[in-house]
Order: sequence, then C-alpha cells, then structure tokens
Amino acid sequence: MTPIFPGTQSTDGRQASLGVMGGGQLGRMFVHAAQRLGYETLVLDPDAQSPAGMVSHQQVQTPYGDEAGLKQLASLCDAITTEFENVPAAALTTLAKTLPVAPGAACVAIAQNRMEEKAHFSACADVSGVNVAPYAVIETLAQLQAVPASLLPGILKTARMGYDGKGQARVKNAAELAAAWAGLSRVPCVLEKLMPLKAECSVLLARGWHGDMVSFAPQRNVHVDGILAVTHAYEGNMHPAQAARALDATKSIANHIGYVGVLCVEFFIVDDGSEHGGLVVNEMAPRPHNSGHYTMDACNASQFDLQVHAMAGLPLPQPRQHSPAIMLNLLGDVWFDAQGQARTPDWQAVLRLPGTHLHLYGKLEARPGRKMGHLNITGADVAGVMAVARQAADILGLPGLDG
Ligand code: ATP
Ligand code: MG
Repeated sequence: MTPIFPGTQSTDGRQASLGVMGGGQLGRMFVHAAQRLGYETLVLDPDAQSPAGMVSHQQVQTPYGDEAGLKQLASLCDAITTEFENVPAAALTTLAKTLPVAPGAACVAIAQNRMEEKAHFSACADVSGVNVAPYAVIETLAQLQAVPASLLPGILKTARMGYDGKGQARVKNAAELAAAWAGLSRVPCVLEKLMPLKAECSVLLARGWHGDMVSFAPQRNVHVDGILAVTHAYEGNMHPAQAARALDATKSIANHIGYVGVLCVEFFIVDDGSEHGGLVVNEMAPRPHNSGHYTMDACNASQFDLQVHAMAGLPLPQPRQHSPAIMLNLLGDVWFDAQGQARTPDWQAVLRLPGTHLHLYGKLEARPGRKMGHLNITGADVAGVMAVARQAADILGLPGLDG
C-alpha cells in the first residue's frame, strides 16, 4: 500500500480523494476529518439528503450495490472506507479490484452476520480468554425446538441487519421464543442468554495496512432501550484490569482477521459473583462507533482522524486523551416535550454550560429514537464533567448519566 497523501497528486495533477460507502452521521464526521487534512471526499448513498452527502465534495447517489455507481466511485477515488456495516460485502469486493478498501469485504462480512461474528470471537477466545454469551443458532424449526432451557430467558436477535436494538426480542420461555421467531419472519437468528449486566464497555482501535495498531482507552457505555445513551470516558470509568483485558481481546479480534481501519468491539461486564465481574464480548462494528464520539473533543486525534489515516496508509498517531469526557446521545425525542409537542431544545442553556461541545448531524426531521446529534462534555476533572453533564441532561430532558 503506497500512502495517499492529501493535496495535488504528482502523477496526474488531481486532488487526492477519499470515498465512503454510506452517507449517515458517521460518514459526515469522516468527511469533516478527511477534508481537514486536505482530501477531497466522495460519498455513495442512495439518499439525496444524506448527512454526509450534504458536506462532501461529491456524492454518488445510487444504491450501495449499483454497478454503475460503484464504477463511478472507483474512478473518482484513491481509497474507500465504509461507515455503514450493512453495505453489501460484494460491493466492497468489486471496489477492491481497483483501489484500496479499508476495512476489507471479508472483515465487514463477519460483522454483518452475528453467527460468523460469534464464531470469530470464539476462535479468538482461545488467545484472549474473553468469550461470547452462551447462544444457539436458530435457522430451522428443529433448532428452535432443541434450544436448551439454560438459554432462557434470552434475547432473540436476527443474524443480519440488526442495529440500535432493532431486530431483537426478549423472550422468557419457549412459547415466547417461538412467537418471537415467527414475529421476525423466521429469518436466521441467534438466541443469546440474557446476561446479568453490571456494565457495558467498548474498545476502539485503528489498525494500518502493515499491522500497526493504536487504540483509545476503553469507554463505559450506558444503553437505554437497546440504544446508546451515555458514554463515560475518563480514568476510573471501569476497573483497570477489565479495561486491559477488553483492550487485549479487541487487538486479537483485529489481528486475527488482518483488519485495516477503525474497529469497535462492544463488551458486557457481567455479574459472575466475582468482585469486578466477568467480561463477555458482544459484537463488533467495522467502522467508527457512537461510543467513540467523545474522542472528537477529548483527544488529540479522533476516531475519524484515525479512520482517515488508516485507509490512506498514513502513520497512525497514538491517541492521547487530554480531558475527561462524557458523551450524551441526542435522539429525536429531545425535539419533543412531555406532551409530544415539537420544540427546539434549549441550546442557549446547554451551550452556556462550560465544556459543552454540540454536534448535530444535519438531519432534516427529528423522530423519536433517531440519532440527531451528540453532546460532548469535557473539563479539567471528572467531578466537574459529571456535574455539567447532569445539568445538560436535565435541561434536555435526558434520563441522566446512568440511563
Ligand atoms: P448496536 O449495533 O446499535 O450496538 P444492536 O442492535 O446490534 O446494537 P446489541 O448490541 O446486540 O444490539 O444489543 C443492544 C443492547 O441490548 C446491548 O448494548 C445491551 O444493553 C442489551 N443486550 C444485548 N444482548 C444482551 C444479552 N445477551 N444480555 C443482556 N443484555 C443484552
Ligand atoms: Mg451493540
């Protein structure tokens, strides 16, 4: 991989261009990071008003698998990344015939299928010692009927296309399981045992074309209704030994498949009777992640900066966090009052608080559960950051720092 430097290329006098499959908020923040270095950007997304398309130099507006669209993208870019894990892996394979694609199709394909993902994690568990929650694959009626009682109560999850808690159903017994599978149209699923969670955390790393790796310290996450609500990113956010194990496990998950790009792995910290709980690996995202948004304001290099560096073959800066941080996710609910009336959130009051950094994604319509933006809070010390985050959550009507 020859590094792609920003600016005019000596070979053909063209501006170096980086492309991204998907035009959501992650693509938008990628575009901002790429442009800051001086790259031109291209977004492929079927939506004319995608958050990333609105800020990119160019957008190819076709479906992800459209051959003409992919051809156009490949002819205009020097490297491609993805911001959306459900881009057809075949599209990435097509693109990789003519230009560098990071992460590669094989890695994205693993993240697209919970069965393959779990098999991959289990293979890595031999080295890392961190395994998945007990589960069963359900593709046939026989497999449904053979589910051991030890997996109940559990969470039935579609093998493909789930995100933000969608495509999931909590089930207490065999009858509920059968009904839930029917409700999910009997598509291939996994049933996971419902784990007694003490906490959740995630790890972000970037891996380059030559196996070089840098990482952020693990962050602790609070989910509400299956959607990330709060990220706690500061020293003391979790037990250091757990953090070290999660980081090691993430590195082996990336190394094992020769991953290139930014990878996020989510973990559960489960109550297993031990003082600090046990670590269980949940899932991975082949891209920057909502839980890494605090890096934009609390670190010298953000997860999006690392995505740009990794795909372009630039040296990977070792990220350094300079401030403790809390991230509050801003879902569309914030744009409605308790009576369901549309409102404009009180940004004046929020932005008056010290250390608040507002990021909105340019989405035209607020809907409950829709990710509209996030608010990072940084400060000199953890107590101060927490106090401001509580005030901001209060003003915005958010559930608070613990969900
Ligand atoms: P996303 O991709 O947005 O992170 P997702 O839809 O892929 O979410 P998961 O990460 O599988 O979903 O689950 C969402 C949340 O539901 C988890 O963060 C956790 O809070 C809860 N959850 C999922 N699986 C389990 C489990 N086996 N036991 C207990 N809680 C769980
Ligand atoms: Mg998840």
